[in-house]
Amino acid sequence: MIKLALPIVNNVLSLFLQPMQKEHYQSLKQELSSPKNIVIVPHKSPDGDAVGSITALYGHLHKKGHSVSMISPNDFPDFLKWMKYSDEILNYEMNRADADDLISNADLIFILDHNAFHRAGDMETVLSKSEATFVMIDHHQQPDDFADYMYSDTGMSSTCEMVYHFLKNLGELETVDADMAASLYTGILTDTGSFKYRSTTSTTLRVAADLVDLGADSEQINRRIYDVNTPTRMKLLGVALSNLVILTQYRTAYITLTQKELDDNHFQKGDTEGFVNYALSLDGIVFAQIFIEKADESIIKTSLRSKGDFDVNQMAREHWNGGGHKNAAGGRSEASMEETVDKLISILPHYEADLQRTEI
Ligand code: 5GP
Ligand code: MN
Repeated sequence: MIKLALPIVNNVLSLFLQPMQKEHYQSLKQELSSPKNIVIVPHKSPDGDAVGSITALYGHLHKKGHSVSMISPNDFPDFLKWMKYSDEILNYEMNRADADDLISNADLIFILDHNAFHRAGDMETVLSKSEATFVMIDHHQQPDDFADYMYSDTGMSSTCEMVYHFLKNLGELETVDADMAASLYTGILTDTGSFKYRSTTSTTLRVAADLVDLGADSEQINRRIYDVNTPTRMKLLGVALSNLVILTQYRTAYITLTQKELDDNHFQKGDTEGFVNYALSLDGIVFAQIFIEKADESIIKTSLRSKGDFDVNQMAREHWNGGGHKNAAGGRSEASMEETVDKLISILPHYEADLQRTEI
């Protein structure tokens, strides 16, 4: 199998790599011209873009007559469970033996919305042993080199936008029905912060418009994604906001949530989604971070967000054992909450000049 490689923006490799070319699509199309066993894998704790992209691709491959499974490393939030085919997603934590069988029998494995096996949690081992043909569709920085077909573009708003381009380049957009269009629209909506982030290009908006023409109901999708507050989530937001700390000198704001605070407020998966954006929405703030304790994993999960050119991907890689994009990244800490916050305070002076000069 030839290795194909694609537009890797903001990456040294981009000097050497060409965008996924017509012949690569032809070769992949050829490989998909007879029924195959296919597995599709999103990243751990799948978000709107991950669930949207895998369900839409599932719909396409299923219609093409393949035997397709979606295997998620773990569960995903209820507010994404309205998506067509989302009830077909196997949770690796609950179906490990079946999932391992599917992976070892797979001819092709699609890796969506992530670019490194370790982002698939406990699935890392079985994925790295697989000899299937790997297809990566992803927009995160610094992809690992495992894919036979690598469609990687950090300039893309979302993996959902990329799945649209992918299907278009395969000449197979006609399989996209209203349900699949709704899935793809959802990922674009959530990964662009409702078309607000800089990653929203004119092409992104054209793709979204096409998806509306294909039957995506923008008003309904927005309601299903954003009008899902529960009284307990509101209370938890109250706690998060009362824990907000503003460090004017560093144009930084951060939020902490301990396991006890989560438990006291009947935390459900997905409840803290978007909380960090309240910190970032403060006038003059360039950088925001939230720390959420996960006692069962003995870690503190952290999300980093920024405005303008301040790069949190680099910061997450260097200090928080994570990564992501320039303006949105994630990571973890294995220290206590207090030590973790102390670490942030000790890091900030190194970024003071950058934070001060960032134009917003
Ligand atoms: P979130 O803060 O919403 O969990 O993630 C923000 C962005 O950073 C997402 O694009 C996500 O895929 C990426 N991200 C989150 N956590 C990690 C991590 O631990 N490692 C890496 N490499 N990326 C992450
Ligand atoms: Mn994404």
